[in-house]
Amino acid sequence: MHCESCGMPMQKQTDFGGRNRKNRYCAYCSDAQGALKPREAVREQMVSLFLRQRGGDRLTAERSIDAYMRRMPAWRVAASANRPSAA
Ligand SMILES: [Zn+2]
Repeated sequence: MHCESCGMPMQKQTDFGGRNRKNRYCAYCSDAQGALKPREAVREQMVSLFLRQRGGDRLTAERSIDAYMRRMPAWRVAASANRPSAA
């Protein structure tokens, strides 16, 4: 199972947001209660990680992350919506 926000594989209970194995989002993309963080917060984390892992300039990292996030289920529907409606 992969996080629907960032694509990280989730295996251990602590990988899941709110330590809930039913959560579609990982611990990095969720707050302590397991709710998906705002898009900007997730984006910033991913940009920072990208820069740490691959280096390069920030603009390139932001473009890569924006393109990546557009393909993720959590963000592709409405880029401006912070949280999909929880049904
Ligand atoms: Zn995630």
